[in-house]
Amino acid sequence: MWDLVSGYVTHGDPDSASAPGLRGAHELTFEERYHRLLLVVEAMWSILKEHGHTDEELRDRIRALDAADGVIDGRRSFPPRKCRSCGSLVEGGRVRCQICGTRTVITNPFEML
Ligand SMILES: [Zn+2]
Repeated sequence: MWDLVSGYVTHGDPDSASAPGLRGAHELTFEERYHRLLLVVEAMWSILKEHGHTDEELRDRIRALDAADGVIDGRRSFPPRKCRSCGSLVEGGRVRCQICGTRTVITNPFEML
């Protein structure tokens, strides 16, 4: 499922991994990433509303996620991880270790948006 979301570009064919227009997050411009994120959020919220979730629940969850790093600042940040190769702390959301270049293991797909 995440491959569909992470590789989806509005003019691409999400059912074909080899279709032109399907690119990884690192290949997208900031604007393309913004629009992809908007599509993902809107699709997810429309599904959740169909299942009875409310705007109040959404607001409360947004606030909780924002506060997870100890600061309510309208930003979502992710904790640093230890590089599996050199042991350096890698800033949350980075795809590669800033010291040795080893690809990081990201378990939360939202870190890649
Ligand atoms: Zn490293």
